[in-house]
Amino acid sequence: MTLYDTLEVNPDATLDELRRSYHRLALRHHPDKGGHGFTNLQRAWELLRDPATRAAYDHSISNQRRIIWRNVPVTALRSEDKGLALDCRCGSLFYLDRDDARSPILVPCDGCSLHIRVYPPGHHQTIV
Ligand SMILES: [Zn+2]
Repeated sequence: MTLYDTLEVNPDATLDELRRSYHRLALRHHPDKGGHGFTNLQRAWELLRDPATRAAYDHSISNQRRIIWRNVPVTALRSEDKGLALDCRCGSLFYLDRDDARSPILVPCDGCSLHIRVYPPGHHQTIV
């Protein structure tokens, strides 16, 4: 998951688009409303709003290999105390918050470079 995913924008988003998305998500995820992910959101915004740190970040993710292992319906994930999980072939786990599973999302394995795409019911066709 990239910082762009966190902010729900495309990697080529303008500063203005980043700001709008940040404000929209900040309202939804604000700690006062019991939302998760506010810290991540804030970190993503602070890094991407600065052209210099954004350029450095873009460079670092362009070197990252993202291998999509499978597309997985959210119903195929195991429900655990803290969220949803799926075993990776490396023996580690793909793990995500229930809140994050409401729209299609790319989930990295904790132990290797594989990713899965998780989609909620009815969203299969919308995954690119
Ligand atoms: Zn793995």
